Amino acid sequence: MTAGAGKAPQAPLWAPRAWIAGRWAEAVLLVPSADGCWADVQAGVAAPDSARVLQGAVLPGLVDAHSHAFQRAFAGLAERRDSEHDDFWSWRDRMYQVALRVTPLQLRDIAAQLYVELLRGGYTHVCEFHYLQHAPDGRPYDDPGAMAWALADAAADTGIGLTLLPVLYQRAGFAQPSLRPDQRRFATDADAVLSMQRAARARGLRCGVAIHSLRAATPESMAQLVDSAEDGPVHIHVAEQTAEVDDCLAATGQRPIAWLAAHATLSPRWQLVHATHATPQEIDAVAATGAGIVLCPTTEANLGDGLADLPRWLSAGVPLSIGSDSNVCRDALEELRLAEYGQRLALRRRNVAAQPGVQAATAARLFDAALQGGAPAGGFDRWGLVRGARADLLVADPACDALRGVPPASLLDALVFAGAVRPWRDVMVAGRWVLRDGTHCAGAVPAERFDAAMAELWSDAS
Ligand SMILES: [Zn+2]
Repeated sequence: MTAGAGKAPQAPLWAPRAWIAGRWAEAVLLVPSADGCWADVQAGVAAPDSARVLQGAVLPGLVDAHSHAFQRAFAGLAERRDSEHDDFWSWRDRMYQVALRVTPLQLRDIAAQLYVELLRGGYTHVCEFHYLQHAPDGRPYDDPGAMAWALADAAADTGIGLTLLPVLYQRAGFAQPSLRPDQRRFATDADAVLSMQRAARARGLRCGVAIHSLRAATPESMAQLVDSAEDGPVHIHVAEQTAEVDDCLAATGQRPIAWLAAHATLSPRWQLVHATHATPQEIDAVAATGAGIVLCPTTEANLGDGLADLPRWLSAGVPLSIGSDSNVCRDALEELRLAEYGQRLALRRRNVAAQPGVQAATAARLFDAALQGGAPAGGFDRWGLVRGARADLLVADPACDALRGVPPASLLDALVFAGAVRPWRDVMVAGRWVLRDGTHCAGAVPAERFDAAMAELWSDAS
């Protein structure tokens, strides 16, 4: 955390209500410790004179479990079709045009803008699935971590928490031994990923590892990476596209998730990103391992990926988190809303994610799932408004249009489903305010630098 991210509070905090253990608790005292974790959380306590009284209902921050920060520079720039067919793969070809240009300084400025937007959107931590490693000509930078440190600098400047996930990326497809020329910036083997993880941890960064996808890594390298990484989360894109499922079937005789369940020693460390095309048997196989899934509803909608079997994943008890992925959307509540609305449209039912008799409120079921599933995705043992977890919180703005006149018991429902715009008045990360009255505490963070980076990147665009 840098000086730009605001000062640590000097006093305990007191909230009229706070979201604790899946329900609203009244009159809550929250005491951050000097190391940025909750030293104490107590409900039903009158505000002590020493406490700072928060001006709205308090919720825990969410983990954005899947982001490619550089793709923020592409948001809104691929929404037209000039040929007969457009899908994920044609989008990817255009996305690579951005990936081939971005410099470390541009990446820092793009990521800083993104991270301020994520903080405004209710995320206090972001997992960067980081494969844009090398210089535009494909050669490693003098410091091979130059692009990773750009992301770390952006996180430090803005105050958001970061889990860095350097990516194993070796080949263009199951039957292709090497990468395409336009994938030259991504090339890594297991040793390179492990080396970056060591370098990141030496800088004090939280760092797991990632595998781009089954099509992009050999089984031998995957095993070497996961065995050697020892601890920390392991993320992998899987079953996002039907073409990937078909290719995996042709190459291995198994669907991607079935292959992972059979060969990858899945465990709670593992986070299966998207997991869109999964059979009931694959879902049950994942559930037996403790591995989690990361849904990215707006990106999956934007790319025409398909719709995950949310009811089945939930009923199987698989940990579930959400990710902003391509960063067309930076709003956690919108991701939860779309996760539910996709199901309603497909199934012609309402409140699909709710669990009558256990958690009848759809917003609460989805919010708590994302809260609990985000912890292992980010590499945390504890998360939320509980003692020992990082001292992160969101203060809902009672003047937000969607919350006016809403009974306290329905606040979360209104936040997710009543179209709340800019709902977070204040945001805290690790005991420090990063957003106050809707304004980022670092003041000069860096919309102008983002504008300049975009102008450089798109200077030849019409
Ligand atoms: Zn992704």
